[in-house]
This record gives sequence, C-alpha cells and structure tokens, in this order.
Amino acid sequence: MTVSTATPTSPRSRPAPAARAPDPRPALATLAPADLAGCLAECGAAPYRATQLRRAAFAGGAEGFDAVPLLPRELRRALGTRLRYQTLTLAAEREADRGLTRKLLLGADDGEMVETVAMAYRAAPGHRARQTVCVSTQVGCAIGCAFCATGQLGLRRQLHPAEIVDQVRWAARQWRLAGDAPPSHVVFMGMGEPLQDVDATAAAVRALGWWGIAPRRVVVSTSGIVPAIDRLGELGLGVTLALSLHATLDPLRDRLVPLNRRWPIAACLEAGRRYARGSGRRLTLEYVLIAGVNDGDDDARRLRRIAAGAGAHCNLIPMNGIPGSPWHAPTPARVRAFAARVGPRATIRFSRGDRVQAACGQLRAELTAPAARAARILGRQDEARAIAERRPLPVLR
Ligand code: SAH
Ligand code: SF4
Repeated sequence: MTVSTATPTSPRSRPAPAARAPDPRPALATLAPADLAGCLAECGAAPYRATQLRRAAFAGGAEGFDAVPLLPRELRRALGTRLRYQTLTLAAEREADRGLTRKLLLGADDGEMVETVAMAYRAAPGHRARQTVCVSTQVGCAIGCAFCATGQLGLRRQLHPAEIVDQVRWAARQWRLAGDAPPSHVVFMGMGEPLQDVDATAAAVRALGWWGIAPRRVVVSTSGIVPAIDRLGELGLGVTLALSLHATLDPLRDRLVPLNRRWPIAACLEAGRRYARGSGRRLTLEYVLIAGVNDGDDDARRLRRIAAGAGAHCNLIPMNGIPGSPWHAPTPARVRAFAARVGPRATIRFSRGDRVQAACGQLRAELTAPAARAARILGRQDEARAIAERRPLPVLR
C-alpha cells in the first residue's frame, strides 16, 4: 500500500529523475530463504551453502561473491550471474564519537544518495551492548516538517526494499573492518517517511529477519500516516512503532508537521494505541525539543498526560540545528527540567554524530551548495561536480 501524503502544505515534492535501466538480477538482500535454496540447487550446491553465504555476506562483511572463499570458485561465479550482491555503493564514510558513530553515504544506481548511521553502544550496567543501524527509506521526504533537513529536499524517490536492507549490510561490513560486532538492531529513522510505502517497509523488515535481525529489534518511526499505521498493524510484523509527535496541541503540530492537518494528534494517538494493543509492543513518542517553540512547562505537562494515556514512552530529542533555520535546542538545563516535568516516561536522547552531520534530520544536508563550494576551494573538482550533479561521491576508503 502506498499512501498519498500530498497535502496543500507539501509543495516540495518533485518528480524523481529518470532512472537507469534496472539490473535484472534479483537482489541477494531480499531473497527469501526458499528462493536462495532454489538458486543454490540450480547451481548444484548443497543447502548448507546458504548459511555460509549469509554469514559471509552480513557479519563477515564480504564485499562480493568472490570474497567468500568458503564457496567453491565455480559456485561464486554462478551466483554472480544469477544474483545481485549489493544494490548500493559506498561513496563516503565519516566517524564521530571516537568511532562509535559511523555515517555512511551510499549511492544507488540512478545516482541518488542516501545516508545511513551506524551507532555502537557499549555494554553498561543494566544495558547490553548493541549495534544499531539507522536506515533511510526514501531519498528526501514529502512531509516537509519544519525542523527537518530531509524535509527540505522534498521527495525524490522511494527506496526499494533491497536498498533499505543493503544499508544494514554496509554497516555490517564497515563494523567488520573496524573489528566491531554486526548489527543487532535497526531503526527506520533516517531520511524519509517509512510508512508512505508500507509494503516496501514491511518487505525490508521481513528480509532483515532472514539476515538475523528479528522484528522485535526493529523500530519504525512515522510522522503519523494513520491508515498506514493500521495497515502496519494488520501485517502483524511485531516491530515497535515510534510516533513523531513534537507538539501537544494541533495548531502547533500543524506548523511543525504539516501532515497533522490531515491526521491530527488525537487520530495519530488513537492509531498508535490500536497498534500497541494489536502488536503488544509499547508505543514510543518522539518529541524534538525546540527552544521557545514546544519546550514550555505546559507542553511538558500535556505530554506527560498524553504519554500516560497512550501507555507510551517518550524520547525527548534536543533539536539539531539545520541550515537556514533559526530554531535550536533548549539549554541542557531546560531540557532536563522539561524531562523532569514529563516524568519517568521520558528519556533524553542526545543525537549521535552531531559533529559529522549524522544526526536525525541532518542527513545529506551537507551535500548542498556549501559542500560543493568547499570541495571546489579544496581543489577536489570531482567531488564538487558529483555533489552538484548528485552522483555518488568518489569513493573514500
Ligand atoms: N519520517 C519519520 C522517520 C524519519 S525522521 C518520522 O518523522 O518519524 C526520524 C526522527 O528524527 C523523527 O522523530 C524526527 O522528528 C527527528 N528529527 C528530524 N529532524 C530533526 C532535527 N533537526 N533534530 C532532531 N531530530 C530531528
Ligand atoms: Fe520527513 Fe520525518 Fe523529516 Fe518529517 S521528520 S520531513 S516525516 S523525515
């Protein structure tokens, strides 16, 4: 199901550029176990080769069929003619938080680029270590939230399920190179609105399961497309739903999240409650804190009531500044005071990777005119042209 989110307030949507002829080979990323078994049988290989291949192509970080030495050479060649190993290429990688955060810039066949953020969390008392990958589902986004860099791009195109899963495989590979553990959790919180194309999101979630990431380790975040939330519930995948609330009254949410004019707060919360009841997964509310806009004491009190009524947990995210916006996060003291008013249902989430422009809402913002200008000044003409033409950047390793 693809949900049209066109509202009178989403004028930023632009037609996607003409795509190149697609690669006819099915992508390994979204190949169902039965199909992989069938493919191996056609190649005359034993079924246990599937496990070897999946391990090498995920946790093992192999770069292609040829880089899986456990498989006989003939089988590698045969698989390469039948299947597409990866749908994305790595254009650039930046690190922050002493390597705990990695931002990957990944290029698709048609030259579009998406960003993926890989965040490692070390074990701490009461917390297990986890390796979380934040994936993009679209190039740009049609919703146009007022505080979000991705929204400023407008929607360029939906990603294919394989392109979503392959972001996680790239994160696995980069972690492997760094001697880190493979991905354990995936959050659909990168560029784009995951519920604009529920079927693509659901297909990606199912495929992640084949790579060892169960739906209970997946969070899907939405700006509140009510019919799509219900559809996600009907599909019964069992992922956690995060609802991006950001305001407790409709007039303000109308301004922050234009989609609110179509599905206002009460409708979103009702859908969130239905989803939580049906899935047994506690609802998460996301609330980007913007100084002087939605961080008042009354906002906090209303958010406390809303969270209690929905049985939800609240993630408070101090806003990351974005180019061209005067808005910014409240002071740390104000953030703490707000969280205290919301109560035990609230957790403050400082965005990872702020210093590499890797935090929510900043994805790809650096690929704008200033970045192209900087590249030119530094004499990196190829990079400047690639940025301007939105082609994948020259590969940096
Ligand atoms: N489109 C979906 C998922 C991607 S956005 C959604 O809106 O839920 C993921 C999260 O990043 C959302 O909660 C969004 O509100 C938040 N976000 C967007 N811009 C941000 C910014 N400038 N600072 C902090 N968080 C931001
Ligand atoms: Fe789109 Fe989410 Fe950004 Fe809003 S916050 S513009 S829905 S990516």
